[in-house]
Order: sequence, then structure tokens, then C-alpha cells
Amino acid sequence: MYIIFLGAPGAGKGTQAAEVARKLKLVHIASGDLFRQALEQGTELGIKAKSYMERGVLVPNQITIEMVLERISAPDSKRGAILDGFPRNLEQAEALDKALSREDKAIDKVVYIKVSEEELLRRLSGRWVCRQCQTPCHATDSPPRVPGRCDRCGGELYQRPDDTEESIRKRLEVYSVETAPLIDYYRRAGKLLEIDGVGGVAEVAGKITAALGG
Ligand code: ADP
Ligand code: ZN
Repeated sequence: MYIIFLGAPGAGKGTQAAEVARKLKLVHIASGDLFRQALEQGTELGIKAKSYMERGVLVPNQITIEMVLERISAPDSKRGAILDGFPRNLEQAEALDKALSREDKAIDKVVYIKVSEEELLRRLSGRWVCRQCQTPCHATDSPPRVPGRCDRCGGELYQRPDDTEESIRKRLEVYSVETAPLIDYYRRAGKLLEIDGVGGVAEVAGKITAALGG
């Protein structure tokens, strides 16, 4: 079972993808998390990705595709995976289809989470993320029980350096130009599940579970 989570930055992809991965016992592969990990560890990949991420633009396809395809071919992804943040443009989507079909596999469903731009801006500017487990929370929507600490693991919360207003606007623009065309790509393939992303985490999770067939 291979499921893609598609949606603008701030749509709630990461939160919902983690939830579905837990339920279906599949690995959750988030390209942004892989890049941030590489950055933290100071690897060559991290160094290459840094300037793009800071500017809110896409890391070049060659680097990104190689990183994600390698992760998907790991033993723990053999049964399937939940992909979050990848693919983000047509070239990535085609590379993914090709790589899976070489192993007689295919993307099963694409969960597209829809949220208005105004709401995206509000969510991203109030977002705090756990340094340790990457779980996000929101300053006013879902404040942490202990200030500055992750509810799940107690790790330190921080604001991503690309969650500044300038970078957020750039990411939303990149999304609408490069990533939004994937909505049609997967709709034509008959794989798209459109989910209204407005509402609480549990409410949206319920809609996704129902759309995926319980
Ligand atoms: P968000 O969806 O909130 O923008 P992510 O954590 O998914 O954040 O991604 C953060 C950054 O990592 C992106 O702005 C981009 O620079 C880089 N990135 C993540 N996934 C991809 C991808 N599939 N292709 C290219 N760059 C990516
Ligand atoms: Zn945590």
C-alpha cells in the first residue's frame, strides 16, 4: 500500500500522514524531515539542501528523487509507505511511478488535503515543531501542555527557520506553480481523494479514514 499525502504547506499533511501511518502500520516518509535530519547531521545532502530550504524553493529534483527512492527501497518500506511532501512536481511524480512499476508496485491512493490560503498562513505562522520527533503543535490551536515542550516526547519545540512570513509566501507560490498540477495528474489516474482540511485534527483524520475505506 503506497499512499501519497498532497497539499499546500500548512494543510496538515504531516500530522495526518503520521496518523494514517500509525493506523496502517506503514512507514511515514516525509521528504522535508529527511532534509532537516540531514541538515542537523551536517551530511553532504544536508549541506546541498540548506540554501534551497531556507529560501522556500524546491531542492533540485536529482537530489530529492535519489534521496526518497533510496528511502523507499529500504526493507521497512517493502510493504508500502505513506509519502508526505513527495512528489512535489511532475518530474518527481513520474520518477516515482517508474521506480515503483519496476517492482510491480504502484501508488494506490493520493490524499489531497484542501485548505484556504488565509488559513494556511495562519497555521504556519503559529506552528511550533518538536526538535526530537518532528510532531507539530500550534501556539493557539493546539498549545503544548508544558510551554516549549513536545506533548508526545517532551522534546524541545522550535519554529522552523522557513516559517517566516517571507518564506511562507514563497513556499505557497512554489506550491501553486509546481505542486498543484499533481492534483490533476492523480485525478486523471483515478487515485485522488479530496479531503476538506478545515477542522480539528481528529475530525480531518476521520474524513481521511472514511475516504480510504475505514
Ligand atoms: P512544507 O510542506 O511545510 O513546506 P516540508 O517540510 O515538506 O515543508 O519541506 C520543507 C522544504 O524542504 C521545502 O520548502 C523544500 O525546500 C524542501 N523539500 C521537501 N520536500 C521536497 C521535494 N519533494 N522536492 C524538493 N524539495 C523538497
Ligand atoms: Zn516530540
